[in-house]
Amino acid sequence: MQARQDKTTSSFTSKKCPYCENHMAVDDRFCFSCNRRVGKLNKATGMAKHPVAWISYIICFLSWSFLVFYLWWAFFR
Ligand SMILES: [Zn+2]
Repeated sequence: MQARQDKTTSSFTSKKCPYCENHMAVDDRFCFSCNRRVGKLNKATGMAKHPVAWISYIICFLSWSFLVFYLWWAFFR
């Protein structure tokens, strides 16, 4: 009974939300219980991975850029 399974879903037919532990389909990208974005299935644990927080990285990078610019503007001009 291994009918509809490709290599990304080898042994799991559902994954667990890392935030609320709700079960969902393996290729769901949002948890329908807590409405948060979830990543791909972690095959070791059966949990969904945390999605990559690109916006956080960008905000962090911009904050540091601004700080460096400010230091240059304030002290080194
Ligand atoms: Zn959830």
